[in-house]
Amino acid sequence: MTHVVTLIPGDGTGPEIVEATRRAIDATGVDIRWDVQEIGVPAIEKHGTPFPPAALESVRRNTVALKGPLTTELGTGFRSVNVALRKEFDLYANLRPAKTYRGVKAPMGNVDLVIVRENIEDLYAGIEYDIGTPELAEVRAVIEKTSRQTIREDAAIAIKYISEMGSRRIVKFAFEYARANGRRKVTAVHKANIMKFADGLFLRVAREVAQEYSDIGFEDRIVDNMCMQLVQKPDLYDVIVLPNLYGDIVSDLTAGLVGGLGVAPGANIGEGVAVFEAIHGSAPKYAGQNKVNPMALMLAGALMLQHLGEREAAERLERSIAAVVAEGKDVTYDLKPTRDDPTAVGTSEFADAVIRRIGAPVHA
Ligand code: NAD
Repeated sequence: MTHVVTLIPGDGTGPEIVEATRRAIDATGVDIRWDVQEIGVPAIEKHGTPFPPAALESVRRNTVALKGPLTTELGTGFRSVNVALRKEFDLYANLRPAKTYRGVKAPMGNVDLVIVRENIEDLYAGIEYDIGTPELAEVRAVIEKTSRQTIREDAAIAIKYISEMGSRRIVKFAFEYARANGRRKVTAVHKANIMKFADGLFLRVAREVAQEYSDIGFEDRIVDNMCMQLVQKPDLYDVIVLPNLYGDIVSDLTAGLVGGLGVAPGANIGEGVAVFEAIHGSAPKYAGQNKVNPMALMLAGALMLQHLGEREAAERLERSIAAVVAEGKDVTYDLKPTRDDPTAVGTSEFADAVIRRIGAPVHA
């Protein structure tokens, strides 16, 4: 069966790591037709907009995209292309596996966690009021009237909202992911002891959803305690589901546990569309130098293969990446003992080494 996947090269070092990843995925033998589309900076240059309708239509039609990093600052009024993309397709689940690989320097020995972060709501919904604006004065007046608390006049206000629907679908996503991937437990993270309504709602809904999944364990943790536990005993946890803000912070913490953002894959998934990417940015200072590590995007490629139902190919790709990294020979500068190691290879040669492991011929 041929899968059609939208391929977004991105900018900065994006096109190089996307090409390396595309070659590695093709080497698994899975039949994929890549529908290449520009979004972000390159799209502005070619089409005068960061979101050409044809690119968005391609993502909508194909429902699966592999995306290189996109530089955020565009000077076009968009806060972030990445955030806009998430909103456009209602990509409510941010999936961030954090796993240690031999050969990647990491503070912890044996971590294998999956973070499921809610991507749309919470403090990150973008509902904010700046000081000195009439809107702020109005909002402050309502808050003071309804809460009987005063807010200083020199304070800006950001709104945190958490809905039943948003909580239910993200917790369900976490349980479905756990079930489909042989995971044993879901931990819901919150601060319901302080934010009794917003986080209290998230926790209540999580408990309700957990009852529908008697085959998967469930527990909850308060977010500050969770951070300490993750540093001290990450092996106690498995799939962790969190509202947006906590998810953002904790997923970087777990990326740090396994060696940093350079090796961490991610996916943004909605009802009908899934976009796979690396966690790191476009690293523009290395653009065009065939230098940066494509591992994170390749691991995102493995997640994508899994999503497409190509489980065996996904495992083969991941095993091949792990083997190259464990051997430590054909790896990029960041995976060498020192950053100026002359034996470091480039992005493309790293991909060649992975492809040799997969067992297919190296494409030009
Ligand atoms: P960055 O992740 O691009 O780079 C920070 C540093 O990390 C780099 O200078 C480099 O030393 C290292 N690094 C990053 N990726 C690496 C790799 N694959 N291999 C080896 N080393 C690597 O972060 P930044 O400089 O803060 O962001 C650059 C741009 O990317 C910004 O516009 C930012 O908003 C954007 N960004 C995009 C995404 C995304 O598309 N999902 C994510 C994060 C940042």
